[in-house]
Amino acid sequence: MQHPGTEKIDPQLCETRLQNVQAEIEAATIAAGRAASEVTLLAISKTKPAALIEAFMDLGVRHFGENRVQEAAEKWSALRANREIELHLVGPLQTNKVKQAVAVFDVIQTLDREKLARVLAQHKDAPGFPKLYIQVNSGAEPQKSGILPQDLTEFYAFCTQLGLTIDGVMSIPPVDAPAEPHFKLLAERAAHFGLSNVSMGMSNDFASAIACGATHVRVGTALFGARESK
Ligand SMILES: *Cc1c(COP(=O)(O)O)cnc(C)c1O
Repeated sequence: MQHPGTEKIDPQLCETRLQNVQAEIEAATIAAGRAASEVTLLAISKTKPAALIEAFMDLGVRHFGENRVQEAAEKWSALRANREIELHLVGPLQTNKVKQAVAVFDVIQTLDREKLARVLAQHKDAPGFPKLYIQVNSGAEPQKSGILPQDLTEFYAFCTQLGLTIDGVMSIPPVDAPAEPHFKLLAERAAHFGLSNVSMGMSNDFASAIACGATHVRVGTALFGARESK
């Protein structure tokens, strides 16, 4: 078995995968009667080596997502150099990593509890403080983090009182049920709070998410290939 990071990079394969994903995004956006500029492809590069990420940068991809603070800090300090990159955190954030996350990420999509909001608020005047999305546990799954839909109003107010600006919402719907009702719920909640960023949809269902109003689709496997299970 090859070591992660040493597999050969095939630029042609990267380009084909990117074109396929972009074509599907475009088709779904047009079908929904939306403008192309309304939907951003977030390339979720977790576990993937810098050289592979660079192949996608060479193809023009500028928005990326990672799910671990430490991994992102290590990979992206060099990758970012001299490039206009927007880096999103899409994985859980421990409060002892907030300071580092604030320095590394442009957007934190996983604001999911009061304690985290309090610690983030302590850093809100830091230069380049990231945009914040609230993670919503739309399926009310006990093993999943996120604010329950019925608690969103209260949590939103809590964040605002701390001086935090909320820019969007994100969700990871249950894997074993149709995603569409969850996508619709998230888009409806975003509209309710006047939030313009709705992060939903992954490799298998981003077209449906776009039909329901996604502004950011989080695509990993369809671009980078399968991840090795840990
Ligand atoms: C890994 C991950 C994705 C990408 O999933 P794929 O199915 O590989 O496209 C999207 N969102 C989150 C939060 C993730 O952790």
